[in-house]
Amino acid sequence: MPELRKNPLTDEWVIIATERAKRPEDFQKKTAKLPEEQERVDTCPFCVGNEKMTPPETFAFREKETSANSPGWRVRIVPNKFPAQEIHEVIIETPSHSKSIANLLPQEAEEVILAYQQRYLAAEANSKIKQITIFRNHGLTTGASKLHPHSQLIAVPVLSQKFRNQEKNATDYWQKQGKCLYCVLAKEEIEKKERIILSTPYFTAFTPYASQSPFEVWIFPTRHQHSFGNISAEETKDLAKILPQILFKFYSKLDNPDYNYIIHSYFENTADKQAKHWFLQILPRLTPIGGYELGSGIFINIVKPEAAAEFLRLQATGCKPQVAGKEE
Ligand SMILES: [Zn+2]
Ligand SMILES: [Zn+2]
Repeated sequence: MPELRKNPLTDEWVIIATERAKRPEDFQKKTAKLPEEQERVDTCPFCVGNEKMTPPETFAFREKETSANSPGWRVRIVPNKFPAQEIHEVIIETPSHSKSIANLLPQEAEEVILAYQQRYLAAEANSKIKQITIFRNHGLTTGASKLHPHSQLIAVPVLSQKFRNQEKNATDYWQKQGKCLYCVLAKEEIEKKERIILSTPYFTAFTPYASQSPFEVWIFPTRHQHSFGNISAEETKDLAKILPQILFKFYSKLDNPDYNYIIHSYFENTADKQAKHWFLQILPRLTPIGGYELGSGIFINIVKPEAAAEFLRLQATGCKPQVAGKEE
């Protein structure tokens, strides 16, 4: 029988449709073509050497004695040329056109996360801003308009209803239980083990009980902390290993599926911040979103989160640099 499960963070329902369930292996598209290696594309505004094709950079990690808006950068941030909002920035994660974050070395991924933090804090300092979303669209079905590896930050002067609900649930739980809902959830997952992908001193990665799509993953920081802006140096280093490891698993085991990831975070001056906890959500796009999902707000997931976790499970040790296509 299909099973209804509720997401405790948002109160959203999902249907885990076990009858039409696919085995995780069925998502391996045997004939899928991985993107060709291409270091540089003349017409790509995010490629090295094409810096003049974007608005001037707002931040970059670069080699010493190289000047802004010229080659020599490792991570580069520019305002979006066609902004959806007043603050809309593009985080260009690597000068290389076809490298994915799944293939970045930990020290390269670390600079991407540090760049996220830097721009998050800069956006938060703007008193008009109420909600900041850092996200990554990977693949053309996810809303990405360019293939060059990049993430985005959009900051808006309003709070969405979805975000309000998430805040309210956290606050209600705190008021009733005197505990953080996210800390409790992570603890329960670690005890149960069945949905854990990886657990380190700093993070717990698991497939949520009410995953809305096959292979959805949440990465919760172990330290109770409301804001991603406060991520520590050790946490950054750890996340820079975990995130590429999980994405590399997608890349190698599920043949580079499209996905989105989103950093959910609460402001420094948020009310009841002891009730809140930032986290990172990864949503692969392996099945289409249909009319039922759009009309009802209820997602149908055809892979059990427990099976997905088993398929994605990683060893906590051995965070070695990985080369595309060479895992296992
Ligand atoms: Zn490019
Ligand atoms: Zn917490």
